[in-house]
Amino acid sequence: MALNTHNDPICGLATPQGRSAISVIRVSGKVLPKELVSYVNFDNESAGLCVKTLKLKSFSDQCLFLFFPFPNSYTGENVVEIHCHGNPIIISAIFSWLEGLGIREAERGEFSKRAYLNEKITLDQAEAISLGIEARSLDDLAAMDSFRSGLLAKKIMESLFVCEKLLVSVETQLDFSDEEDVSEVSAQEVLNGLDRACNNLDEILVNYRPISQKHLKPKVVLAGRPNVGKSSLFNRLVNSDIAIVSSNPGTTRDVVKGDLYLNGIEVEIDDTAGVRETTSKIELAGIERTSAAIKDADIVVWVSDLGGLETGRPNCEIWVGNKVDKIKKKAAKVCDIELSAKTGEGVGLLVEEIKKRLKPSGNYHLVSERIYKNLSAAVQKLSEKRSGDDFYEQTAQDLRDVLILIKDIYGDFSNEKILDEIFQNFCIGK
Ligand code: GDP
Repeated sequence: MALNTHNDPICGLATPQGRSAISVIRVSGKVLPKELVSYVNFDNESAGLCVKTLKLKSFSDQCLFLFFPFPNSYTGENVVEIHCHGNPIIISAIFSWLEGLGIREAERGEFSKRAYLNEKITLDQAEAISLGIEARSLDDLAAMDSFRSGLLAKKIMESLFVCEKLLVSVETQLDFSDEEDVSEVSAQEVLNGLDRACNNLDEILVNYRPISQKHLKPKVVLAGRPNVGKSSLFNRLVNSDIAIVSSNPGTTRDVVKGDLYLNGIEVEIDDTAGVRETTSKIELAGIERTSAAIKDADIVVWVSDLGGLETGRPNCEIWVGNKVDKIKKKAAKVCDIELSAKTGEGVGLLVEEIKKRLKPSGNYHLVSERIYKNLSAAVQKLSEKRSGDDFYEQTAQDLRDVLILIKDIYGDFSNEKILDEIFQNFCIGK
């Protein structure tokens, strides 16, 4: 669904759902309803604030209203922020009030899309904002710093200027080479310029890694045959009885998800249906979901029952042998980790192993997948072999393509489809 690109008034909750000291509802529009403007008594010239007791049908709430007039607001439109008490009932009543004034609820990322369309932020800045909000660890935020602070944009801009200058000299060569006062640019000089631009961009590719919203929260999937203790291990890891534990095989059908915090890294952990031969349609559907979860996992933990181990190593990152408490005489260790979901013995070792694997290796920066792809494509174009009679024509065309790829990073050439893809990943109210 295409995002609404109008500038009609919209509202959205800028803080998380639930109960909290305060919640912030943001309203933005080129023209805000007269009732709202006169209610908070703002002029259209300067930013301001006021505290008012907002009457909402059967109750009222004391709210702080902030006003940021066009064009000096996040969206570049007239913006009102309503800071109310953080209760879902109060929030819902305020939304009804705003709806009554003709203000509709914003779609995902609509505030930021307007900020982009009104030239308050560039497309790469919009992505940096969104990825910054979604970051799940200190390391991710540190690695995103140069992307979020604009340092990377500066580096890319430098390469853009090199390419633009080069294109001008190549085009001059093409258009005026037979005129006396135009100095000749040799093919070697052009090749040197291309090398310089290519190296600049390649240096970024070497030092940066692409990151998408999906990758920010690593996924650990517990898989294995039925009844080996996956749900028991899941419950122990998330410290709660979320998954049903049963001695009947085939109990888990849906993928059950939980969150784990390991050394400041937020991890999604999934308990899956046991994999076995079955004719039950529901169980088969569960097994299909298991395969999908495994495909999408960053780390697969394969759980086996030490009382009946698989003959070969399963396809996984970590192989766990469960129910060690039942084993009287210990045989040579085959699995990576032996543990007991029941007593907790060895579970710490599994957590340590997961942490080790999640720890980023080396020093690198993060940048959005889209920007990384554009930079890679630009480097590829710049490093193509070119020679022969149409050397200058070919180089000029390649440079034009490279300029489009780089400018696209900032949104200069972006089409509606790309915009929708980017802004629909935003959280509501941003
Ligand atoms: P799943 O089907 O793989 O999710 O396995 P469950 O977690 O539902 O457990 C199957 C059965 O094994 C239940 O009766 C559990 O109580 C039992 N079980 C799970 N983990 C352990 C363990 O570490 N030791 C022992 N002795 N029993 C366990």
